[in-house]
Parts: sequence; C-alpha cells; structure tokens
Amino acid sequence: MVVRLNNKAADVWSTSSAAEACRYGPQTADVLASKKQTAPMIPPDRYEWELEGSGAYLVASARLHIDSVVLGDSGVMTRWNKLVPRKLNILMWRVLRDRIPTRLNLRDKGIDLHSVLCPGCDVIGESTRHLFVTCIAFSPIWHRMAMWWGVPTPSVLSVDALVRWADGVTLNREAKMVFDAVIIVAFWNIWSVRNKLVFGSEKPRKDEMFDDIRIVSYFWINNRRRLGKMSWDRWLISPHLAYCTM
Ligand SMILES: [Zn+2]
Repeated sequence: MVVRLNNKAADVWSTSSAAEACRYGPQTADVLASKKQTAPMIPPDRYEWELEGSGAYLVASARLHIDSVVLGDSGVMTRWNKLVPRKLNILMWRVLRDRIPTRLNLRDKGIDLHSVLCPGCDVIGESTRHLFVTCIAFSPIWHRMAMWWGVPTPSVLSVDALVRWADGVTLNREAKMVFDAVIIVAFWNIWSVRNKLVFGSEKPRKDEMFDDIRIVSYFWINNRRRLGKMSWDRWLISPHLAYCTM
C-alpha cells in the first residue's frame, strides 16, 4: 500500500518562494507568486491499494493476500458440503492440505513425541495418507462404504481420490451430494477414533466404526436436507434410494 503525496511539489515550491522573497525583496516575491498562480492544478493526496488495479481498498483482496501469506497457495480447490456441519468441512480442508496434527507432521514441526507410529496399527509412521488410506485398522471402511452404496472404490486409493470419490460414481446429482457427505463423515469418524486412541481414557471399538458412520451421517444429512425426511430402513440397505421415495 502506498500514499500518493501529490501536493509535495507545491509544498516545496511554496517553501522556496518564501525564501526567495526574503532574499531578493517583495518585487521578486510578486513574480514568484504570479508563477505559483499559473502552476497546473495538482490532485489532492490519496491512498492507493496496490493489490487492486483500481487502487481502491477491498476487504476481499486484503483477505486473499493474508491467506496467501499465512496459508500458502496449495493449488487445492476448496470443497464444501452443506449436508454436514462446518467442523467436518474444515477437517476436510485441512486433510486435503495435509494440515492435520498427525504424529509425523508434529515431528516435522520439531515437537518431541514418544512415538510417531500410527495409533491405529502401531506399525507404520502416522502420516495423513497412512491414516486415511493405507492403515489396516481404518482402510477397510472404504470397501464397506463401496459395498453399502453399490459403487466401486477409486481405482487408485489416495486422500485426494477418496475426497473426490463421489464425483466419479454413477449416481444422480443429489445422490452424489449425499454420498459425498457420507465420505466426509467417514473421514471425521476415522479422525475421531484416532484421537480417542491417542487421548481417550477408554479405547474405542474399531469394529463399530462403520455402523457409527451410517448412524451419524443419517442424523446429520436427514436434519439438513430440505427435500423431506429419509427412510432409516432404506438408508441401511440402499442409501441412494432412502431419500427418493418414502
Ligand atoms: Zn496405521
């Protein structure tokens, strides 16, 4: 951001003309005053916001600038699903950018940990990819999800492929949105179970994760959809039909 001091030249002229008057007398001062009157009009001082071509300050451009400095440009598109709470969308935003505090991420930030192993399997270092994609404790969730919805798993499993899984399945537009919400709930469930394993006093049961995902996703989606309630019985068997007919 800069400040244009357009009257600076005029201020200098005024100062020097006063000095000339003192030095050469009032006649010289009259000549200098006439020169000043014929000087071109100079626009007033004003602020210019360099991040906008117009020079006008915009909160949006300031926010984008701060985000680019603080968060960096990961090149990852932000996704948002209105069928699940905000905190779940924020988790997905962080997962896509590898900004969740897995043990390997904490170690890379210089935090001393007693172990960097995944709390799910206790075999491999806990990275974002391992936790959500390859861990033997959590990855079976994705195959059960595929069978439940009658869709294939992504051909190549990765965090990005799982996040975008709903985009490539053969479902109608609304079914894709619901399936996408369920995928987000699955990510949330894995992260919650992981945190209970690390911080909780009682160890969660991993064999209940799939049922928890079906229950929690039904609760959130059913309460956020504006197009009518869903059938619980159909949700358990054929989720893509649960909201089409009652
Ligand atoms: Zn693991």
